Amino acid sequence: MAIVQPIEPTSDGRRRLSLRSPIGRAPIDEITVMNAGEVQEAIARAREAQRLWGARSPEERARIVGRALDVLLRRQEDVIATVRRETGKTRVDALAIEIISSCDFINYWTGRAPKDLADEKRKMHGYLKPLRKLVIQYQPLGVVGVITPWNGPFVLSMNACVQALLAGNAVLLKPSEVTPRSGGLAGEILIEAGVPEGVIQVLHGDGETGAALVSGGVDKIAFTGSVATGRKIAVACAEQLIPYTLELGGKDPMIVCEDANLERAAAGAVYLSMFNTGQVCLAVERVYAVESIADALIEKIREKVEALRYGPGDDTDLGAIFWDRQLEIIDRQVQDAREKGAKVLTGGKPALTDEGLFYPPTLLTDVTHDMDVMREETFGPVLAVMRVKDEDEAIRLANDSKYGLSASVFTTDDDKALRIARQLVSGTVMQNDAATIYGVPEAPFGGRKHSGVGQVNGQQGVRSYAYAHPVVLDRWKLDREDIWFPLTERTTKTLEKTIEIAFSRPLRRLMR
Ligand code: NAD
Repeated sequence: MAIVQPIEPTSDGRRRLSLRSPIGRAPIDEITVMNAGEVQEAIARAREAQRLWGARSPEERARIVGRALDVLLRRQEDVIATVRRETGKTRVDALAIEIISSCDFINYWTGRAPKDLADEKRKMHGYLKPLRKLVIQYQPLGVVGVITPWNGPFVLSMNACVQALLAGNAVLLKPSEVTPRSGGLAGEILIEAGVPEGVIQVLHGDGETGAALVSGGVDKIAFTGSVATGRKIAVACAEQLIPYTLELGGKDPMIVCEDANLERAAAGAVYLSMFNTGQVCLAVERVYAVESIADALIEKIREKVEALRYGPGDDTDLGAIFWDRQLEIIDRQVQDAREKGAKVLTGGKPALTDEGLFYPPTLLTDVTHDMDVMREETFGPVLAVMRVKDEDEAIRLANDSKYGLSASVFTTDDDKALRIARQLVSGTVMQNDAATIYGVPEAPFGGRKHSGVGQVNGQQGVRSYAYAHPVVLDRWKLDREDIWFPLTERTTKTLEKTIEIAFSRPLRRLMR
């Protein structure tokens, strides 16, 4: 039985969905899908509320949003319980992925935002320097739509909402229909912190609601989710000429070099592919191990995968697969690999089916790039290890993908890590670690190729929700400029002299 299912509509014909827990499949909730008319009303309310919010100083907004950290600390058990009920993830995954990261994002962005959003005086260059002054203002965009997926339902909602709010926007958050309350709690906590209700609103529903939001006349869409939906959103935003960011899927490679600390590489490969039951866009999905260490690495990985505990209950390393459609994808990919000659060293088919949606930690070797498991996003506790001749072959295969989200290099040599990173076509690279890059707010985060459009976080994080509005100030307040009408012979001479002197060889450098 599906986790999300249509049920009897409301008496006024609005669609309704029922939700079941991935653990035990017990009914846990029902939501009414917001239709296009209701989304329009929410956008109008947001536009009205944004005027006052956008007029507050960045410091004031940061003070209010910053209180969300206290509310979150007070309500963390509520968040953990809601997330676990909807996803079946372990307590450790809920603490590490949803709570710690959210606390850090709120704290970090509220500290940074007043600095990043303050008017910025920029030095002018060359002949403009004595004539003009430049100030960049960071204006709110207006109303921002934030659409989020089910795998990190609280943190992915909280991080985007906090940044958009700090920049002075009203936010309409559309959480996944698979995890509506986990995403919705991000909105609830921000309201409890003091963000006015119209400024942050949660729109419950599925693709219908998301599509109505995207085409409803908002000023930006920040989307996290699948490539297929991302493509639809890009088309809809292009039609309206509004900006968007897309944080999409991945197939992240991990390269293990000969000089790697094999113990760390094996432990890392297992954790970084299987935390959150592998349902992480940045999870390690493919390992390329150079021939000389491949056997030793595989043996270590096998021991560690076999030691993992999975299933319902509080004493496991891996929780549930969050919804039935993902379980089908994982199973199909492993079957495809098996049929094409992969060796399944451990795991390999759905288990504990009476107790919920579970897939055992699975290790594949003898894989090739003809297999879906090496080409398509698996999003499950499946690790595929491929032997390669050397680092060059590893780099070539790592780049042989339609995705380019993140990548990792396991080596004890920093120069080698930098050299390999330079050749990888990926959003980000980590040495001796992976996946945690999203939790480094200083780092611009995004995907290349089919993994996304635009970057979030980093120095431009909060600013990406604002419009950089240059204002050029007049330094001398003269009656007229030399080039203004009426044009005379002197105008032409001045221009000719400026070109001759300003760009002459001795002065060129001063003009930069
Ligand atoms: P999804 O694309 O099915 O859904 C994401 C959101 O989009 C949901 O809220 C959904 O209701 C909404 N939606 C669906 N159709 C829509 C439409 N036509 N218009 C507007 N909104 C629509 O993705 P998912 O299955 O929820 O999430 C899993 C995917 O998210 C994976 O591919 C994963 O890699 C990706 N992801 C990426 C990142 C990242 O930062 N790059 C982070 C987490 C997850």
